[in-house]
Amino acid sequence: MAKPSLLSIVVPVFNEQESISLFMDAARPAVAEALGFMGADARAEFLFVNDGSTDRTGDILAILARLNADVRYVALSRNFGKEAALAAGIDRARGDAVIPIDVDLQDPPELIVAMVREWLAGARVVNARRIDRSSDGWFKRWSAQGFYRLINRLSDHPIPENVGDFRLLDRQAVDVIKQLGEQARFNKGLFSWVGFSVATVDYERAPREAGRSKWRLGKLWALAIDGITASTTMPLRIWSYIGGGIALMAFAYAAFLVLHTLLTGVDTPGYASIMVAVLLLGGLNLMSLGIIGEYLGRVAQEVRHRPLYVVAEESEPVVSPAAEIP
Ligand code: UDP
Ligand code: MG
Repeated sequence: MAKPSLLSIVVPVFNEQESISLFMDAARPAVAEALGFMGADARAEFLFVNDGSTDRTGDILAILARLNADVRYVALSRNFGKEAALAAGIDRARGDAVIPIDVDLQDPPELIVAMVREWLAGARVVNARRIDRSSDGWFKRWSAQGFYRLINRLSDHPIPENVGDFRLLDRQAVDVIKQLGEQARFNKGLFSWVGFSVATVDYERAPREAGRSKWRLGKLWALAIDGITASTTMPLRIWSYIGGGIALMAFAYAAFLVLHTLLTGVDTPGYASIMVAVLLLGGLNLMSLGIIGEYLGRVAQEVRHRPLYVVAEESEPVVSPAAEIP
């Protein structure tokens, strides 16, 4: 690997006029220290994504970019949400490593130093895991825990618990993420899907430094649904098993009713025939739902157009191409 020289810090911002300068004050020294480990000619770029802010965020970014050669920004035409804003930033980042980070200092910039060291030691992805969520309310903690438990039971690739979007992604991982063209972005799911060698650094999540959280309950719920439907097909396919199980029992009971009526005669007129009809049709319904779910799950997987696999490295061909062999 050539000596890494550029570190991209990607910062989505939405109505954060109070936070940006606080963020730069805290992030600059941390990034400078991290660059020290990367070598003499290492540089950093701060890439802000203005996610349709309606306050003075845009003006502040314009001034900041004019005054600092290492600050760039991209402004979206309206508020597209953090997931889309991050995607816009990651697409434009030029660094050998890319670190998405929140502007409100809830993701401590000091951690960038530890992340870069893990990266230089060979990790392609460095996750930042919060070991303490006490800055979140009980409801957010409880719902987040439930969400991770659920999605990790359903998903075929685990999504590490208590790891947010704050992490270091090597250029190799970034290039894979950029290829994923799916519309419903759930970054945490995509970041963990790419694989590669992962390291983890721990931190305590601080309360927000300035401004207000932009997540409302409804938006978080929508993100959770996106996450589950984007990373799993289990909710669709589960009906094959439930349907199959119930249908089997229904058919067995229907058979028993038929036999019972034939052997001991009719006790309540109409009961056996109605029951058998209801059970048969109900069982058939559930089974066909399950079959549709199986196909729909496959369709959902197809339309995501994810690559079948991601290669981490390959040995150089030992034998030179056939044409050159005498
Ligand atoms: N953000 C964004 N677009 C949005 C909402 C949030 O770019 O629609 C940014 C926001 O400016 C911040 C980061 O995403 O830098 C995290 O947002 P916030 O602190 O509101 O989320 P929380 O920490 O409460 O999960
Ligand atoms: Mg925050």
